[in-house]
Amino acid sequence: MNKEELAKIKEKALEDHIPIIMDDTLEVIEKELRDVKPNKFLEIGTAVGYSAICFSEFLGEDGRIDTIEREADRVIQARQNIKKAEVEEKINIIEGDAVEILPTLNETYDVVFIDASKGKYPFFLKEALRMLGPNGIIFADNVLYKGYVMSDYNKHKQRTAVRNLREFLKELQENETLDTKILEVGDGLAIARKK
Ligand code: SAH
Ligand code: MG
Repeated sequence: MNKEELAKIKEKALEDHIPIIMDDTLEVIEKELRDVKPNKFLEIGTAVGYSAICFSEFLGEDGRIDTIEREADRVIQARQNIKKAEVEEKINIIEGDAVEILPTLNETYDVVFIDASKGKYPFFLKEALRMLGPNGIIFADNVLYKGYVMSDYNKHKQRTAVRNLREFLKELQENETLDTKILEVGDGLAIARKK
């Protein structure tokens, strides 16, 4: 991969206020991926491709990332970025709403990274669990949502997102087939590993 291009992609994404993965969150995930070396990786929420490009460094041989994005202009930028970073063979962008796309997928994934609309996390979890292989891992970003999730915050227009994130975390923690950790890095990261 082209590291110089990656640095430019990151800089431009930050300038454009695209909510790309935070450095400390990325570091934690990359550390886990080093041991897993996933071959099949699913990302929900591509944005401009920054995180997918970063993760592509940690795939097993012939590993691939499927990544879903619903905003057409972001898909275009992601395609350009992936090309610039020279990782086109490793990343497959699926354009569309993940709520519609996920039920059409019938793959087995080693890793699923959830990083899209917070109100849909419980649905994304259901779909991730359906496709998660043995020893699979689910990572979910932004699960503490600026601290709202763990506070008594329940006003405001984000309250559906907050409610659904709480439900998502409860389902993760109550699921006996998973070992779940919730870390206060970045905007909150959940790591759930199949036992
Ligand atoms: N993973 C990226 C950041 C993703 S930001 C990175 O770290 O570089 C979240 C993205 O998810 C946004 O681009 C948004 O358009 C997309 N998104 C939100 N809800 C979605 C949905 N239901 N289906 C597909 N994409 C969605
Ligand atoms: Mg995020």
